[in-house]
Amino acid sequence: MQVFGPKRMTELLTADEIGRAVELLRAGELVAFGTETVYGLGADACNAQAVAAVYAAKGRPSFNPLICHFADAQTAFRYVQANALAERLAAKFWPGPLTLVLPRLPDCPVSQLAGAGLPTLAVRVPAQPVARRMLAAFGGPVVGPSANRSGRISPTNAQHVLAELGGRIAAVLDSGPCPVGVESTVLDLSGDAPVLLRPGGVTLEALQAEIGPIARASGEASAPASPGMLASHYAPGLLVRLNATALGPDEALLAFGPPLPGARLCFQLSERGDLQDAAARLFEGLHELDEKAQALGLKGIAVQPIPATGLGLAINDRLTRAAAPR
Ligand code: AMP
Ligand code: MG
Repeated sequence: MQVFGPKRMTELLTADEIGRAVELLRAGELVAFGTETVYGLGADACNAQAVAAVYAAKGRPSFNPLICHFADAQTAFRYVQANALAERLAAKFWPGPLTLVLPRLPDCPVSQLAGAGLPTLAVRVPAQPVARRMLAAFGGPVVGPSANRSGRISPTNAQHVLAELGGRIAAVLDSGPCPVGVESTVLDLSGDAPVLLRPGGVTLEALQAEIGPIARASGEASAPASPGMLASHYAPGLLVRLNATALGPDEALLAFGPPLPGARLCFQLSERGDLQDAAARLFEGLHELDEKAQALGLKGIAVQPIPATGLGLAINDRLTRAAAPR
């Protein structure tokens, strides 16, 4: 089982090597890039394997939904259902440190892993000119969580990124130091009224001056809506049972490695026991089993044991939440 690839050379790219950055992104590689907030760890949002590699490189113990970055609002709104408020805020604050959470369009090709299985997607148009040129040349959504190992400080220059992730990612596109240095403001526009999920680079006052009152997400004062909380919105309807070594009569199987015998419905995360493959397929698997089990009269999902190392930690975290009594 492989958690990280072999150590590799991380390319340090200058602003006139955007073509190389795009080529690497298209090949499913990880390219850190500067934005006005912090350096993001970029990957093709539509490539689940590349997104899984982002979590692996960061060593993240859970899958929180990632923000998709675009060159302009027009492109962003081809992936999500914009409403009047979104159009208005985009016109005023994009490009800039504002992230909008909106419903995914039905044919949205962004991987389920990037959105942590949620029916919504967070989108943003960063202001950094080099980043925008890269995004325009790439043409599609690029995820970009902060380019640091999980639990460490966000990087605000290319040297920080190399110190954290050098040898684990393909390249860093150096666009100089980040002027804002704090993360983007995250505003949820997918419900009846706007909700502030995370304070950030655009102030609440500035947003309210544009669209009127905005509620704060409940929970601890300024904590970003807990990924766990968010993920539970999409907990499957079926009961989830972890570490299954045999299958009950009314259970579907979420397999990892050689599948348990006797399953009437099975989704294979990774036959060869690869955690990155499994991460890339996890949310697809939960959706699919949930959809098909009802028709077959199945009542639960049995999950084969998944090692709690590397990406396995995040996979188990998500499955434990799905298995929690509700
Ligand atoms: P980061 O990419 O690390 O800057 O953080 C992304 C943050 O955006 C997450 O921690 C969430 O709080 C928020 N976020 C991303 N996608 C969604 C979504 N679909 N719904 C709600 N919040 C989201
Ligand atoms: Mg971070």
